[in-house]
Amino acid sequence: MTIYQNFIAGEWVGSDATKNINPSDTNEVVGLYADGTVEDTKNAIAAAKAAFPAWSRSGIWERHVILKKAGDEIMARKDELGALLAREEGKTLPEAIGETIRASQIFEFFAGEALRLAGEVIPSVRPNIGVEITRDPLGVIGIITPWNFPIAIPAWKLAPALCYGNTVVFKPAELVPACSWAIVDILNRAGLPKGVLNLVMGRGSVVGQTMLDSPDVTGITFTGSTGTGRRVASASIEHNRKFQLEMGGKNPMVVLDDADLTVAVEAAANSGFFSTGQRCTASSRLIVTEGIHDKFVAALTAKLETLVVDNAMKSGTHIGPVVDEKQLKTDTDYIEIGKKEGAKLAFGGELISRETPGFYLQPTLFTEATNQMRISREEIFGPVVSVIRVKDYEEALATANDTPFGLSAGIATTSLKHATHFKRNSEAGMVMVNLPTAGVDFHVPFGGRKGSSYGPREQGKYAAEFYTSVKTAYTLA
Ligand code: ADP
Repeated sequence: MTIYQNFIAGEWVGSDATKNINPSDTNEVVGLYADGTVEDTKNAIAAAKAAFPAWSRSGIWERHVILKKAGDEIMARKDELGALLAREEGKTLPEAIGETIRASQIFEFFAGEALRLAGEVIPSVRPNIGVEITRDPLGVIGIITPWNFPIAIPAWKLAPALCYGNTVVFKPAELVPACSWAIVDILNRAGLPKGVLNLVMGRGSVVGQTMLDSPDVTGITFTGSTGTGRRVASASIEHNRKFQLEMGGKNPMVVLDDADLTVAVEAAANSGFFSTGQRCTASSRLIVTEGIHDKFVAALTAKLETLVVDNAMKSGTHIGPVVDEKQLKTDTDYIEIGKKEGAKLAFGGELISRETPGFYLQPTLFTEATNQMRISREEIFGPVVSVIRVKDYEEALATANDTPFGLSAGIATTSLKHATHFKRNSEAGMVMVNLPTAGVDFHVPFGGRKGSSYGPREQGKYAAEFYTSVKTAYTLA
């Protein structure tokens, strides 16, 4: 079998490899992907550092052309790359193709941003002096990504990093190297000079840790678990390095008595269970007022009956497998915890077998949960959702905000007053009215508050805040 190698200083290198396994069919090896070493990572950092002076001064047209070419190729290959994504991660083929299209759109967006770089010219408070404010590239950016969006998250970090003139060392999650390898191959063929983009696949404790420990990595953008995020933070503070973290969520969706029941059920089913509940914006707490509670639970349960859990590649599948055995164990452990805590298992909770061997779990719904239970406070990252009954809107809002996290929050209501109040008073970075808590646009800021995020927002023009450093220059006229 071919080994998909690491890409360092413009060369494909590495001979040790790890199997990339399909969670929908554990007999299938998606490919063999290089297992990077400390040495590889150091070489990649050195290459990125050496390439920085020239790339940081490269013309904006060159950056535009490369990013545009990459976006176009990803779009032209959306079905093939979507299938690769579905095979390595386990989300359904339509979801995987949708994510691939989004990756292409992100490259298109930042291809445009490269041409829109601008500063400000302002008069000084002192006479005869002019002030210019410009943005410089940061330097070598370390990109560390998780497994749940194998192409979109790399795209939303790589595209702005390159757009603003930085060089990159990119380490994707161990479980999903294939899409990252494909993007790096595409960007390389689109014309990036040697050393500007380096890919080091491999373990977090080896490749990732070497990046954290290097004084030559000037910025790190990380999406992943809270525990690893804290390591990124403390190592970065030690090196006086800029960093940006996107971590967990325990996103609430409030359903009020006056909600349109169909809208609420569709949004809850989508938020909680699509992509197997493995989205940081997934809604895992449904906070429902008394008057609609029983109707909502009955309608949501009826909806869950209709959802097909099966091989991600099969047409008609709504929910693919859990990503791997470790995550499946986390999910089933939390299901046991929920039962012990006294929540009522209203639907699911069982492992299921399908034609192909994989990590299949029923969508699982708990009712009669409280907001103090562990299943309501800790991120599970699987298709496991709790319903929390509340008296009225005020209690719903207070419950929604009573969480260590603050990524996304939703409300289903036909009341303008409550929707407006919720938008103003939710302590989340993203608020959705009559929409799933997951599913965001590619051209506007993404990010959260409290324990969910740290540092500037990602995506849209707000991305510039992290990937550049502001300079203020004064000139005597
Ligand atoms: P998850 O539980 O979603 O896998 P992790 O935080 O473990 O979350 O993984 C997110 C990314 O962080 C992955 O690319 C992983 O390899 C990387 N990672 C894990 N440990 C470290 C570490 N010590 N230093 C840097 N990166 C790490």
